[in-house]
Amino acid sequence: MKILNHLLYTDDGKQVSYRPTPNKAGKYTPSYLVMHYTAATKASGSIAWFLNPTAKASAHLVIDRDGTITQFAPFNIITWHAGVSQWNGLNGLNSYSIGIELVNGGKLAKQGGKWVCPVDKTTVSDDDVIIAKHKNETAENGWQEYSEKQLSVAIDVATLLVKTYQLKDVIGHEDIAPFRKTDPGPAFPMTSFKAKAMGRKDATLDLYKTSTQVNIRKGAGTQFETITDMLPANTKVTVFKREGTWSFVEVLDTVHGLNDIEGWVSSKYLVK
Ligand SMILES: [Zn+2]
Repeated sequence: MKILNHLLYTDDGKQVSYRPTPNKAGKYTPSYLVMHYTAATKASGSIAWFLNPTAKASAHLVIDRDGTITQFAPFNIITWHAGVSQWNGLNGLNSYSIGIELVNGGKLAKQGGKWVCPVDKTTVSDDDVIIAKHKNETAENGWQEYSEKQLSVAIDVATLLVKTYQLKDVIGHEDIAPFRKTDPGPAFPMTSFKAKAMGRKDATLDLYKTSTQVNIRKGAGTQFETITDMLPANTKVTVFKREGTWSFVEVLDTVHGLNDIEGWVSSKYLVK
């Protein structure tokens, strides 16, 4: 992908679907990328909403579950995705950030034994749901998973945006409006996403699986406490760094209901 005149193009030179939104302000210089979910299972509703002047809401991009991208404003024009928000001493992050919305039903409700998106009432199949505790909440809940295609497109776009605009960080709506918002939520792999987008280059290709059950610890050695129960065999991890025979990993799978577990495992139990 590439950016020309603040608009997004695919590698073959075609502009992504561009639907200019009326819900925008003036020019600005972005410093952050804010990730969101749409809280709906289909892109069409969010796209229509962002084109509706009464919505007073928008974002720069919506990325659908099949990876299709829609752009609503050039990246150097303020869109309205963050609302009342604070980060690093800044107020009102719309004026400082690019916003990407990923099509995802978000926090689901259990109805008649099924997980349902409360906004569009669509049933989400159980294998598309993780049960997890949001970092700002106390109880577990069902959350729609992001699709692999969607995440891989989002990482490519985020990496390009970070590089083009020299962005300082990738953050979630839940980080800048923690009392109002739960997106992108626990189904979003923020740690690895951020590492890749910010160009921690050892994070991109160092994908491994555990060859057997293995302990994950707070330090590089058996003398350190374990972080949670053993990781099962075939758990996917990314290796960030090595120390002797130990690897510091981020767990990519949801394990024991936890996301984004990070810790040390013995390197001999990691296989490609
Ligand atoms: Zn949001």
